[in-house]
Amino acid sequence: SLQGKTALVTGSTSGIGLGIARALAQQGAHIVLNGFGDTAEIKALQTTIEKDFNVKTIYHNADMSKPEEIVAMMQATSDKFGGVDILVNNAGIQHVANIEDFPVEKWDAIIAINLTSAFHTTRLALPAMKQKNWGRIINIASAHGLVGSAQKSAYVAAKHGIVGFTKVTALETAQTGVTCNAICPGWVLTPLVQKQVDARAANEGISNDDAKKGLLAEKQPSGEFVTPEQLGTLAVFLCSEGASQVRGVAWSMDGGWTAQ
Ligand code: NAD
Repeated sequence: SLQGKTALVTGSTSGIGLGIARALAQQGAHIVLNGFGDTAEIKALQTTIEKDFNVKTIYHNADMSKPEEIVAMMQATSDKFGGVDILVNNAGIQHVANIEDFPVEKWDAIIAINLTSAFHTTRLALPAMKQKNWGRIINIASAHGLVGSAQKSAYVAAKHGIVGFTKVTALETAQTGVTCNAICPGWVLTPLVQKQVDARAANEGISNDDAKKGLLAEKQPSGEFVTPEQLGTLAVFLCSEGASQVRGVAWSMDGGWTAQ
């Protein structure tokens, strides 16, 4: 049980982050939600989590590309809950284009949100975790943290980067009760991927369903999407005592993508 612990999940107003936040709340952790979205919808997410799992939640709207806003979010969490016990670095964006056409500001945004934000949250969370001698840091990397795909230069660079950052964090905490690991999902049908499904359907003049099948067929041998709930289950395991010697790994849940 994670009763009495506090979990901060960046980018948890949607998709994988929300699935992981709900799974941690189900184990009794108080939740700090973060990410963009409609104020009323976010309020409703908070209410649902509080009611379903009998935990406390706060929401902070920090933009993960802005270090000073990350500092403010970590401070707000400390003020409310006395620090972060479980940090899930999940916020991320994608952009698909050849390198020579890749918008420079998109490159900078992807590196800032998908990689550098995890440095800031981690550096700010570690002192209290080390003091309590307990902590869990879970970085949501990707199959693209382990292998590349054309037209995803910034994303693949950031995800390989976060796998490296995970290893160093694990080594610096190796003799403490703090662990750090990465999760490497394959395709998960979230808004981030739906955009790519839409682009494929438009480019090839095919249906939404056929575009999904095509996307999976290209990379994911199972032919099925991974779900946010399944990723939540893995995150809960990494938070358990049974996982206390799992350190510095990049753990795939990708329907066989990186087995090829
Ligand atoms: P999503 O678009 O559903 O959710 C992204 C979340 O991040 C949202 O809550 C959004 O508001 C938030 N976010 C975006 N920019 C932000 C910013 N600047 N500051 C704060 N929050 C911000 O996407 P998702 O598919 O759930 O992706 C979550 C993570 O999982 C990402 O890191 C992504 O790279 C990774 N991932 C996704 C897949 C997939 O197939 N969907 C596969 C592997 C890895």
